[in-house]
Amino acid sequence: MNAFVIDPPTIPAVGVAGSSQRFPVRRVFCVGRNYAAHAREMGNDPSREPPFFFTKPADAVVPASGQVPYPPLTSDLHHEVEMVVAIGAGGRNISADKALDMVWGYGVGLDLTRRDLQAEAKKLGRPWDWAKGFDASAVCSDITPVKVAGHPTANAIWLKINGEMRQQGTLDEMIWPVSDVIAAISQSVALMPGDLIFTGTPAGVGALQPGDRVTAGVDGIAEIAFEIGPRPV
Ligand code: MN
Repeated sequence: MNAFVIDPPTIPAVGVAGSSQRFPVRRVFCVGRNYAAHAREMGNDPSREPPFFFTKPADAVVPASGQVPYPPLTSDLHHEVEMVVAIGAGGRNISADKALDMVWGYGVGLDLTRRDLQAEAKKLGRPWDWAKGFDASAVCSDITPVKVAGHPTANAIWLKINGEMRQQGTLDEMIWPVSDVIAAISQSVALMPGDLIFTGTPAGVGALQPGDRVTAGVDGIAEIAFEIGPRPV
């Protein structure tokens, strides 16, 4: 007899650079407003906030290649390019000075956002889930292992639409660096192998249109290219 009454879902996974093996995804954590200039462009004061987090379903992760679907229920789909941290070892109450030991690798991804639904949720004091956690909302490159590229510190992070630069920053502009982000998450939940962390976006977020060609990267880690699909009918 089958152990499950329906077929169990497949484990979401992302590619590993230079390997046919894949990195299995357990959960997706995202950091809000982690670059000062982006916090300001969203109307917030970056000097007065501790880090805060939201999540996306693991199966919202899709490869950053080919076509990424334009989601339903929005006419303001925003790009947020972010460095992605792939957690290889977990724990609770991880100290910042031990935090990087938990990292298996790094990638680059997009925290796609239905900005119109987010604005409505903020106004009404409702959760962000519908704005952030839709299908294919976590676009992610292959993961580059730490043993190949080390821990990036001040690398450039950027995004272009149809060849035009829209977002540009460096990783040392993060208000909360990766070690602090890992420490903070692990104070709230047990961080586990397979967790991905989207570490926040630099300034320059804006709307994507169907047919847009997106290229993005964290220099020295990963570069991606994909197209936004047609509006759903
Ligand atoms: Mn984001």
